[in-house]
Parts: sequence; structure tokens; C-alpha cells
Amino acid sequence: MKKILVTGGAGFIGSHFIKFMLAHTDCFIINVDKLTYAGNLDNLSGIDSIYQNRYRFFKGDICDNQNVSEILKSEVDIVVNFAAESHVDRSIETPDLFAKTNIMGTLVLLQNAQKAWQSNLNEKLFIQISTDEVYGSLSEESPEMRFTEDSPINPSSPYSASKAAADMLAMSFYHTYRLPVIITRCSNNYGPNQYPEKLIPLMISNALQDKPLPVYGDGQNIRDWIYVEDNIKAINKILNKGIVGNVYNIGAENEIKNIDLVKQILDILNKPYSLIQYVEDRAGHDRRYAISASKLSSLTGWSAQANFTEKLKLTIEHYNK
Ligand code: NAD
Repeated sequence: MKKILVTGGAGFIGSHFIKFMLAHTDCFIINVDKLTYAGNLDNLSGIDSIYQNRYRFFKGDICDNQNVSEILKSEVDIVVNFAAESHVDRSIETPDLFAKTNIMGTLVLLQNAQKAWQSNLNEKLFIQISTDEVYGSLSEESPEMRFTEDSPINPSSPYSASKAAADMLAMSFYHTYRLPVIITRCSNNYGPNQYPEKLIPLMISNALQDKPLPVYGDGQNIRDWIYVEDNIKAINKILNKGIVGNVYNIGAENEIKNIDLVKQILDILNKPYSLIQYVEDRAGHDRRYAISASKLSSLTGWSAQANFTEKLKLTIEHYNK
């Protein structure tokens, strides 16, 4: 039975990962989460009792060296680092917090994993959960272009810059100490339990309350949407078949303009487009994200399976309870 340290497991993607892994594997999970505004133990309600022999939660900060060191001494086999400050708008207000959590927190995890694992590195794995935003923006004028794992790192926001820095540190630990590191770079996730400041849950929540739906700039920015469970299944494939020292992009090749997405949400909820309110564009707003996941697909056979409209409806139902 593998012991997995999941950081940030009370957040959106981490909580889906924990539920999936407990249900589909025999792993033991330690979840360390600081419970910031984005962390919510309700995302994991019931799992303490269902999996009482295979799940432990500790409220803790990944920047806390002593705390992380103690946990990693307990024969952890795999670290999956989801913990992060994750909202671009907040990173524009408080870039220092993003540098602390996303860069220093990752460094604390890497250093302690390296110390705890140095005698048996071959049996261990450190998965750094990164983002496609580290590649920066693509032009909508070259729709055939997609970022691959070899594309240059060119982040635009303090959020994506902090994630890019964490990626560099993680890879440096692979090259310098042979720490078995793999990095995943996923596109925009959607699904139940996402904190309602991100585009899809914010638009759903506002539409449900007949409040204005704030759309940045001209609404033509393009995002590549993936259902959260498809991302989780990809991470699980990488856990089993990924090659250390590699980066794997995870994406669904599902590019949608923000304005079209907002209209789709309004259509499903039968609400008028007059709720749409164009607002001043976000500073440094990336125009288009699109990634190729063909490296991962060739290695593992993984591909995204979710039907976008079906899962968007399911997500809307979740917020409409
Ligand atoms: P989230 O904001 O929903 O959750 C982050 C979690 O980390 C929260 O539970 C929070 O309490 C916890 N956390 C924050 N600081 C911490 C600290 N110092 N110590 C311990 N825990 C801390 O984020 P998410 O959307 O679930 O994203 C998870 C990861 O996936 C992040 O690393 C993010 O960069 C990456 N990612 C997200 C997306 C997306 O679309 N949401 C896409 C690609 C990559």
C-alpha cells in the first residue's frame, strides 16, 4: 500500500484527487492543508469515516519546515503538491503571498523529501502540480499553435511566475539530487467544489442570483477547459507510468472564448444575456491558452473523456443545490 502525501487536499482539485484515489486504489493518504479561504473540508465530507484506516488530515502549512519534516519522516512514498495560492487576480494584489506559498512552500517540500528519501530515492516520487499558464499567452491568429512541454516558459502574472519558479526548483532537485520529480501542467479545470471566484463558478453563482456577470475586456480571451476528473485520471496515469525528470501537459483540446462560455451558462440557466457586464480588462491578461497533451497520451493512452456540455450542466446543478 503506497502512502501519499497530498498537499492542498481540501481545495478544488486536491479534494477530487483524494476521493478518486481512495475509491480506486488501496493507497493511504495524508492530506496537509492550511485551510486558507480556498480550502474547505466539506469538499471531503464523509471520507474520514468511510476510509478511516487509509486517510488522515492535518491542518498545516507547506512553508512550515518542522511540520513538513515530521510528516515526511513517516515513510511517505509519494508527494503530490497541489497546495498553492491559485487565483490570478489575487496574485496581482498580493504577489508576495504567492511567492511565499508557491515558491518557498514547494522548496520546503522538495528539501524535506530529499532529506527523508536520500537512501531509497528509486522507490519514491514527487509530483509537482503546475499549470499551463507558465507558458504565457498564445495568439488567436495562429489557432493551430499549441504549447508543448518544450515551449519556452514565459509567465505573465505573479501567479504563473510563482508556479514557473516552483517548476524550475523542482527540476533542479531532479538534476542536482536525483530527486524523482515529475511536473504536470494542466489547462483550466472546471467541476463541482471550485471556489466561486474562478470564472465558471463565479458566473454560475451570479447568474443564479440574477447579479451582473463581469466579463473582462472584450470577452474574446480563450481558455482550454478540462473536466477536473479527467485531470485526476491523468495524474493517476502519471503516478503509475510517468518517467521521472519529465513534464507532462494535461489538456482536453477544448478551447472556448470566455464570452461564449458565459452565454452557454446563461442559456442552460435560461437567464438573459443582459446580465453580462463587460468590465476593465485584467492587467497582463493572457489572450489564449492551448496545450498539446500528446506526450502523455502516447505514453499512457490517456485522453480526456468528459463531454463539455454535459459536465457543465452537472457543475451548474452542483451550485444550484
Ligand atoms: P485551490 O485554490 O482550490 O486550492 C488550493 C488549496 O491549497 C486550498 O485547499 C488551500 O487551503 C491550500 N493551501 C494554500 N496555501 C497553503 C499552504 N501554505 N500550505 C498548505 N495548504 C495550502 O486550487 P486548485 O484550483 O485546486 O489548484 C490546485 C493546484 O492545481 C494548484 O497548484 C494550481 O496551481 C494547480 N492548477 C489549477 C488549475 C485550475 O484550473 N484550478 C489548473 C492548472 C493547475
